[in-house]
Amino acid sequence: MTAQTTSSESCRRCGTCCKKGGPALHLEDRVLVEEGHIPAQDLYTIRQGEPAFDNVKGLLQPAVTDIIKIKGQTSSWQCRFYQSHDRACRIYQYRPLECRALACSDTTAVENIYDQHRLTRKDLFSHIESLWDLIEDHQQRCDYEVIYSFQRLTDPTNRRQLQKKVLEIIGYDTHLRQLLVAKGQLAAEMLDLLFGRRLAITIKGLGLKIGKEGQEIVLQSDSAKL
Ligand code: SF4
Repeated sequence: MTAQTTSSESCRRCGTCCKKGGPALHLEDRVLVEEGHIPAQDLYTIRQGEPAFDNVKGLLQPAVTDIIKIKGQTSSWQCRFYQSHDRACRIYQYRPLECRALACSDTTAVENIYDQHRLTRKDLFSHIESLWDLIEDHQQRCDYEVIYSFQRLTDPTNRRQLQKKVLEIIGYDTHLRQLLVAKGQLAAEMLDLLFGRRLAITIKGLGLKIGKEGQEIVLQSDSAKL
């Protein structure tokens, strides 16, 4: 914790910021994860390229780097460390940089650090060679650019070919996770940190979903078949 990144305003414990969702982590927070104060299973990754809402700019755009965040609670985005009954943070002593920087009356400090030195999966896992190889391979195969390219296409033939590719990477993403858990190689709670959220879920944020046309699996939009 530094003087520059810690709000001088005392927290009124209204819980407003904690209820809006967990913070993103920065390099300064790495030690909190490595020492177990913020358990890895309580984190998830918005992968580089994945659509992410920028709270400062107020727009949805592809993430420039990984964004590692604290998970929400079972039925809401409320930070999973927030306790409603006493409006307290369960890890207050070890709360991350953004939480320490945020003041209700003046958000300048948190805006200044918002997209700076974000913690990435490389910072946490590149020293575990076999795991890092798997993460890199998944990131390369499941590149969001494939989905954006599909959305940009208008030619039906090319669109159909790219639809096949998108469905393949969604299938790979799903099966890799199932396999690693079934073989006991990874805990299910770690998957959203290591490989980001499931593509079958995140494509919904891009206006897509998996549907059926007869016996064929296809990509659909909410309003019309693509
Ligand atoms: S880590 Fe603590 S202070 Fe930060 S959002 Fe979660 S509950 Fe609130």
